[in-house]
Amino acid sequence: MAGRQKGNRDWQPETAAVHAGEFVDPATRASSPNLVMSVTFAPEAVAGFSARDEQGYDGYVYSRVASPTVAQLEAKLAALEGAEAACCYASGVAAAHALICGRLGRGDHVILPDANYVAIAELARDTLPRFGIEVSLVDLANPDEVASAIGPNTRMLWLETPANPTMKLCDIALLARLAHDRGVRDVAVDSTYASPIATKPLALGADFVVHSLTKYIGGHGDAMGGAVLGRKAELDALRLEANVHFGGVLSPFNAWLILRGAATLPIRMRAHEDAALQVARFLETHPAVSRVLYPGLSSHPQHELARRQMRNFSGMMTFQTKAAGPEVAARMVKELEIIHYAVSLGHHRSLIYWIGTEDIEASSFRHDAEGRRRYRDYAGDGVFRLSVGIESADDLIADLSRVL
Ligand code: PLP
Repeated sequence: MAGRQKGNRDWQPETAAVHAGEFVDPATRASSPNLVMSVTFAPEAVAGFSARDEQGYDGYVYSRVASPTVAQLEAKLAALEGAEAACCYASGVAAAHALICGRLGRGDHVILPDANYVAIAELARDTLPRFGIEVSLVDLANPDEVASAIGPNTRMLWLETPANPTMKLCDIALLARLAHDRGVRDVAVDSTYASPIATKPLALGADFVVHSLTKYIGGHGDAMGGAVLGRKAELDALRLEANVHFGGVLSPFNAWLILRGAATLPIRMRAHEDAALQVARFLETHPAVSRVLYPGLSSHPQHELARRQMRNFSGMMTFQTKAAGPEVAARMVKELEIIHYAVSLGHHRSLIYWIGTEDIEASSFRHDAEGRRRYRDYAGDGVFRLSVGIESADDLIADLSRVL
């Protein structure tokens, strides 16, 4: 979609977050981005009907292909991530589906983590094999395991770091090099937990980045969205297939909300990290807590990698309690005053949720005995997933103290 994406990729993140993709509206001189809900656009001359005819056309035709407010968000995201281009979708999962099914076909092989965000884990286990896509599930923290899973038909390596909910990291630069050297075409990174403020997977050698915009980038828990970022030629091709044929595109209204949220991403990420570090240190010394996993703590088993790969440790952590998790969770539902006991993450308000190992194994991971042991060893046997918001750390600590 040549000519539609504006933004200066040399800006610092704070400036890109506010200005990239935005411009004063030439018709009204409006300073803030317009919300353009129009589905169709009147061309100035007779134009072709196929979406293929729109390639290279510097205007809009039909909003399943591209639309102005979504394009403004795409330009802002591309600038924040240091990508040539971005395509937005209706959710993070829609973005993952667009990329995986837009790039792979029958007989292709994809390698994914043995534990990652549950809906993508289920997509890998249940859906992709039905369409003839071979799947291998590996421990990304073990490069030898990744190397030995690569075969002649391996087209994609899918990474997620830090992973939801294990808090396990993987070394993007090392794995991207390893995969490309062995002929794997696509290295994709789900960077939702890190956000573009913490980690820039493309600069580390990945080909694609996927974000759930529902999380840190939108940041306010009021709009679902997802994005794929990468090179322009590949994203133009993806747009023609995933937008036009799969159709899971982002609503302009959600794009407008996410544009507004993204403007404060850099300062929010600093606030998330600052509060999360204080909460993690509090939890680590609390007598009712047996273990905390937060990349910013020196006790995180991959803290050195976190320091190398993350410029911000983000607000995500897990912890375990000495008392049975479900009992503590029941108290949280009733007694927490600030933190919401609810799923999701990366919002300005803090969220906590109990994730039982049996549940997640039955619904999503379905490890064998060895895989289950490995999951438990790293992540813990049942964890509280805490997404620290941007409230005062003192108030969050007081809220947690009450229920612990
Ligand atoms: N990737 C990660 C790491 C996530 O945590 C999530 C949602 O929690 C998703 C992808 C999916 O995003 P969405 O809920 O916007 O579809």
